[in-house]
Amino acid sequence: MLNNGQSIGNPTRGYKLNFSPGISDVVHEFCGNHNISGAECPLCLKPSIRLLSLDARDSRLNVDFARFASIPLLYCWTCRVPYGEFVYKVLSDGGVQIISVPTKDPRMDEFGPAGPYDGYTGQFPLSRVSLEPLSDAEQEQLVAMQMPGAETDYDAYFGHQIGGFPFYSQSAESVMSELQKRNAADCVHL
Ligand SMILES: [Zn+2]
Repeated sequence: MLNNGQSIGNPTRGYKLNFSPGISDVVHEFCGNHNISGAECPLCLKPSIRLLSLDARDSRLNVDFARFASIPLLYCWTCRVPYGEFVYKVLSDGGVQIISVPTKDPRMDEFGPAGPYDGYTGQFPLSRVSLEPLSDAEQEQLVAMQMPGAETDYDAYFGHQIGGFPFYSQSAESVMSELQKRNAADCVHL
């Protein structure tokens, strides 16, 4: 997620999703149906998958709650969205404006309406989750796994993660440059 000039993974600490949030935790919405204005896939002409709506009241996310109540993380699994830059602007009213989708590439093997696996429905039930920081050991292993010559038998955490390492496979500077060209601050880039 990019947020007005922040150019590294944000938050820098990685958090995993806790599907049994405590009573005092800030709760985020994982998957489920949504009615986010503008959140239709422009290629498939159907609602995008809402992977997560992050509640801006969670101060660890460094999102200005005065400007955004939540940040939706959107996706589509039946077209070329997974194979390039998918950029949208988050609007202050909770809606989004799609800025760009990946360009068509014949080398991409898009899944199509059947989706990426047998039995795919595109429907994922809503879960309410909180964020739990990765342990130092988990964080260190995630970093080590990215190093040249890394071994493959790390007992690292694999799962849904917000922030932390690894972050962009593409330099954040190039993403920011592209967004600034488009005059598109407050964008989410996946
Ligand atoms: Zn799509």
